[in-house]
Amino acid sequence: MATRARPTLALTRELVARPSVTPDDGGCQALIASRLAPLGFASETIASGGVTNLWARRGTAGPLVCFAGHTDVVPSGPPGAWSSDPFAPVVRDGHLHGRGAADMKGSLAAFVTAIEAFVAAHPRAQGSIALLLTSDEEGPATDGTVKVVEALKARGETIDWCIVGEPSSVERLGDTIKNGRRGTLSGVLTVRGVQGHVAYPHLARNPIHLVAPAIAELAAMRWDDGNAYFPPTTFQCSNVHAGTGATNMIPGSLELQFNWRYSTESTRESLVARLSEVLDRHGLDHSLAWLPDGKPFLTPRGRLVDVVIDAVREANGITPELSCAGGTSDGRFIAEVCRELVELGPLNATIHKIDERVSIDDLETLSGIYRGVLERLLVR
Ligand SMILES: [Zn+2]
Repeated sequence: MATRARPTLALTRELVARPSVTPDDGGCQALIASRLAPLGFASETIASGGVTNLWARRGTAGPLVCFAGHTDVVPSGPPGAWSSDPFAPVVRDGHLHGRGAADMKGSLAAFVTAIEAFVAAHPRAQGSIALLLTSDEEGPATDGTVKVVEALKARGETIDWCIVGEPSSVERLGDTIKNGRRGTLSGVLTVRGVQGHVAYPHLARNPIHLVAPAIAELAAMRWDDGNAYFPPTTFQCSNVHAGTGATNMIPGSLELQFNWRYSTESTRESLVARLSEVLDRHGLDHSLAWLPDGKPFLTPRGRLVDVVIDAVREANGITPELSCAGGTSDGRFIAEVCRELVELGPLNATIHKIDERVSIDDLETLSGIYRGVLERLLVR
C-alpha cells in the first residue's frame, strides 16, 4: 500500500533503518524534530554522557500532554540468525521486521503521525503537547530521561498527562495498559566476623552462622500486603559469598546481595529501616551498600486512564486491562514531574528477540489511539 495511506509504517521504516543501539540515537531524534518543527514545536536537545535526549513542546499553556519514549534499541544479536537484516526494515506477512520495530520505534512514529493529524484537525486546540525522547532507556538509564526530568524540575515545568509508548500489549493491540510499575532496590550486605581455624571456633566468629537466622527472618518477612493495584512487596537474596575455598577455615566476612520489588505501600526508607532493625537485633557487625534504585509509580483510575481506555475501545473494540506487572521503565522518572502517566504500545511478544516485528495494521491503529487520547484531553 502507498506511503500516503500508511504514514506510521513509512516513518517506522525510516527510524528502524537508522541503527541506534544504546546509547546511540542514530539521528532518530533529529528526524522526529524535523517532522515536528513545521507544526510549531520548539525542540531542545539535552545531551549528557554520550546520550542524546529531546524535549519538544508545542504551546506554553496548560494542560500539557506528553508522549515519551526511547530511540535506542537493544543489540540485534547475531544478524545471521535473523530472517532479514535487522536494520534493513522489510514488510513480510503483514508485519514490519527490524530491531526496534516494536520496542519502540513504531510507537515513536505513531506519536508523530497522531500529533500531525491532531494539529491539522485542531490547529487551535487548548493546552500544549510535548515529546520526551531519550537514547538511554535500554542502557543504564543514568543520562537519559532522568536528565530531562531534572531540567523540567529546575524550571518548574510539569506534565499533566503522559503516555509512554512502551510495548504494553500482550495478544491484541491495546489489551493491556500499564498504570504503574513496582519499585526496585538492590543492596549488598557485608557481615564481619573473625577468621580462624574450624577446629578452634571459640577463637573465631563465623559470619555465616551469625547471618543465617537474620536471612531466615528476612526471607519470611511480610513487608506489606500490596494494594488494589500491586501485589505484596517481595524480598529475594540473589548472591551470597563467604570463605576462601579451604575446608578448614572459618571465613572472616560474608557478602550477601539482595533485591526488593516493592509496591507503593512501602518506601525505600521503610524497607531499609526494617532491614536495619533485623540486622541490629541479631547483633551483626555489618555495613550496607546500595545500587541505584527505581521508585514505584502508580496512576489510579482517573481522567487519563479512563480516556486511554475509551480511545482503545473506539479504535479497536476491546477494553484494556490495567496492569502494574513487569520490570522498571522510564515512567519511574517522569512520574516525579507528572500528575498521571500510563504506558500503552504495541505487542511485546517479539521485543528484544531475533526477528522483532510489529503488525503494520497495528501501527496505524496505534496512531489513531494516540490521536483519540489527544482529542479527548484537549478538545472534547
Ligand atoms: Zn522499550
